[in-house]
Amino acid sequence: MKALIKDRPERGATLTDLPLPIVGENDLLVKVKSAAICGTDIHIYQWNEYAASRMKLPLLFGHEYSAEVVEVGKNVKNFRPGDRVAAETHVPCGHCFQCTTGLQHICKDMKILGVHMDGAFAEYAILPAVCAWKLDPSISYEIGATMEPFGIAVHALSKTKPAGKKVIVFGCGPIGIYAQMVAKFSGAEVVIGIDITKERLDLAKKMGTDIVLNAKEVNVVDEVNQITKGFGTDIVVELTGNRAILNEATKTLRRGGDIVLVGLFPGPVEWDVVNHVIYKEATVYGVTGRIMWETWWTAQSFILSGKMDLAGVITHRFPLEQYAKAFELAESATTGKIIFKT
Ligand SMILES: [Zn+2]
Ligand SMILES: [Zn+2]
Repeated sequence: MKALIKDRPERGATLTDLPLPIVGENDLLVKVKSAAICGTDIHIYQWNEYAASRMKLPLLFGHEYSAEVVEVGKNVKNFRPGDRVAAETHVPCGHCFQCTTGLQHICKDMKILGVHMDGAFAEYAILPAVCAWKLDPSISYEIGATMEPFGIAVHALSKTKPAGKKVIVFGCGPIGIYAQMVAKFSGAEVVIGIDITKERLDLAKKMGTDIVLNAKEVNVVDEVNQITKGFGTDIVVELTGNRAILNEATKTLRRGGDIVLVGLFPGPVEWDVVNHVIYKEATVYGVTGRIMWETWWTAQSFILSGKMDLAGVITHRFPLEQYAKAFELAESATTGKIIFKT
């Protein structure tokens, strides 16, 4: 089968031919239909510190995907060949404290598809049955492949009550735009999206965000102060992972507001906790992945409502052969979701 693997500890990837993987007794062998490029895949492609410290090569990467089940392992009872699935990428151990108390998504011994074990930038993939989500018949494979990143936005906003609130989201990459869409759909009074590229701000606006601000062109804290008539925002969602932004982001938050941290900072962060958290009595949430399977049910409901156009966030589609072009575009941070059609 065609497969895009990471085989050398340097920038790039290799498109190669691999034998069809053998299905384990608790796994599904699936035919990949759509696979999306995630920020993690860019780290892997670039081979930066994040990737080098986590991965053993060679590895088939790619983890946000949808697929059709081809074969099931002998212990698998609830899936059959022909089933349409999307992948939950956090593979829980099933036995630790978290896994046995409903917190599988933060399993102590969690493995991540396409990072610690083979992923899905290929024609076929192995998906642990415990991580397979059956796609509703009305949800396309393309949308199915984006349910994982969409789920992060759904999970992030689920910590808050956006109805009637002023919500600001730092970062208009795909997850940032999803977060803005979820806030809007959930009844927010005003949704503000922040980014530094025109393309992404335009896409956010197109997807329904009320106000977009380019942090390179305006003083975001001053602008938000004007927009909210000095009130500040009720909810801040941080998705940039940019250390310089955190203090600015919390300056926009009103006293007693909520801040949800999702973007991964590349190291320790200097944050004025006294002024921005303690004196404000801000509530700070850390969010990772998706709650299994609560977030997936909610994400599915949002999609089935027909009021949220996730397809609009997919801006580019490539065959696997054009991976270099796809990654170059992904690195530019000017696009929505980029999908491989395999
Ligand atoms: Zn991802
Ligand atoms: Zn566990």
